[in-house]
Amino acid sequence: ASASSSNYIKNIMIEDLNTGKVNTIVTRFPPEPNGYLHIGHAKSICLNFELADEFGGRTHLRFDDTNPVKEDEEFVRSIQEDVKWLGFEWEQLYFASDFFDEMYERALRLIRKGKAYVCDLTAEQIRETRGTLTQPGQESPYRNRSVEENLDLFERMHKGEYANGEKVLRAKIDMASPNINLRDPVLYRIAHAHHHNTGDKWCIYPMYDYAHPLEDAIEGVTHSVCTLEFADHRPLYDWVVQECEMENVPRQYEFNRLSLTNTVMSKRKLKLLVDEKVVDGWDDPRMPTISGLRRKGYTPEAIRTFCREVGVVKTNNSVVDEKMLEHFIREDLKLKVPRTMAVLQPLKVVITNYPEGQVEMLDAENNPENEAMGHRQIPFSREIYIERDDFMEEPVKGYFRLFPGNEVRLKHAYFIKCENVIKDADGNITELHCTYDPETKSGSGFTGRKVKGTIHWVEATQAVPAEFRLYEPLILDEQAEEGDSFLDNINPKSLETVQGFVENNMRGAKPQDKFQFFRHGYFNVDSKHWAEGRPVFNRIVSLKSSFDP
Ligand code: ATP
Ligand code: MG
Ligand code: MG
Repeated sequence: ASASSSNYIKNIMIEDLNTGKVNTIVTRFPPEPNGYLHIGHAKSICLNFELADEFGGRTHLRFDDTNPVKEDEEFVRSIQEDVKWLGFEWEQLYFASDFFDEMYERALRLIRKGKAYVCDLTAEQIRETRGTLTQPGQESPYRNRSVEENLDLFERMHKGEYANGEKVLRAKIDMASPNINLRDPVLYRIAHAHHHNTGDKWCIYPMYDYAHPLEDAIEGVTHSVCTLEFADHRPLYDWVVQECEMENVPRQYEFNRLSLTNTVMSKRKLKLLVDEKVVDGWDDPRMPTISGLRRKGYTPEAIRTFCREVGVVKTNNSVVDEKMLEHFIREDLKLKVPRTMAVLQPLKVVITNYPEGQVEMLDAENNPENEAMGHRQIPFSREIYIERDDFMEEPVKGYFRLFPGNEVRLKHAYFIKCENVIKDADGNITELHCTYDPETKSGSGFTGRKVKGTIHWVEATQAVPAEFRLYEPLILDEQAEEGDSFLDNINPKSLETVQGFVENNMRGAKPQDKFQFFRHGYFNVDSKHWAEGRPVFNRIVSLKSSFDP
């Protein structure tokens, strides 16, 4: 895989290699294990792995596990699975928490240099004294503690002598800096909490802005890419690397965060959808998570192409239309999957002039756009199912499918003509009686007359009962990511489940098997609800495309 389209980070790498600033490109993907990965992460994963790969460099997977309260082993496991599934291999696997000792040592060094101090202000007081864009902050009354006192207090923080929130370690930079991030940011906080990797060894934890540059430097990362909201943090990133006297000097570059229409991506919001049981888990096919997209039927190839095409810029964050993602899965599956028939809302049809008890096998090509996929045999007999809405008792203008007296083509089979409509006592249509014309067999070269409609069908005695899960966007607001009202805009029709039939040759379909069902779109066998001999299909995407990139 290569990042074919140009982007500004790639140009920087070319420049850095040309000028000899770096010899090898080293990137990292640094998720916090506090949720499942989503399509936004995929963009970052593709960017990091594909760029390093293109220049013969390497990429690390690093768990940014500096916040014990929200992190979990389940997330560590799922993140690795998802990165691998996308098709990437990390050169090294790191946990930021493996570097806690070194980070602590570096903090002591900052204190000795007079560049950090222990502060007793509460989180709220720190916020209140930070100032604003137009007002400088106020210096903490603890700012001028001696090095000895700071060393002593920090060690006691480390030993667990204080409660959560009682003290923090702050960088001593500049309370009047125009960049608020440089106004004595907090480097360490106290959290008496069990950590998934380090257990109870630590009760002080480094803040992101302190930990991240150190992790990058320790690992020898050359280009540390992150999303745009960290651009203002870059001076602090550089300050930490310099003042901690790191040997390797990584550089931070920012790129635009990906959002999709009609969904949310923030892990906090995704977690709410899971916790509130709006969806059936992180891998619900309506979720924009990698595992949700996989369960729905997306392929790694489609996701990677999408991520490459959405583009990397250093200006505005983009809200990308979901339809663009759909475009790439259609493109990917078009030539890869067999085109078969499924009836989602069955209506029985009896072909009255077809011999009773007879079953013939008809030839059907698997993919007219890919001859290499070959042919299959499908049964045909006196009883078949067609789609309920392929029949109208009183046809509207322009309706060319089945109605009393009208003739249509059955895909891969014969012309049939509707002779009789059978109803129950309440007037509901229970079945249709039709006749077929043996002359019109598909592939026979029949040209005697034409029909306007072609419909799909499934032979009734061998049909396999199947469930179909049809999806619509989870949230009815295109700009769902903005604000917090997404829970009020959940689409009540985001999942519709129907019971129908598929061709008998799909009896053995297994999770992740994909098909194009004639006229219905692309489907994937669901891995959670699947049972042997009774497939459950998720619709990945319908056939129609209203998006043209
Ligand atoms: P969230 O706000 O959802 O918790 P995060 O950025 O805190 O997301 P991390 O686990 O820290 O999540 O992200 C790991 C990497 O993925 C970071 O480098 C981050 O910049 C990148 N990333 C996260 N979300 C997106 C997104 N929507 N688009 C592009 N990159 C993203
Ligand atoms: Mg983060
Ligand atoms: Mg986060």
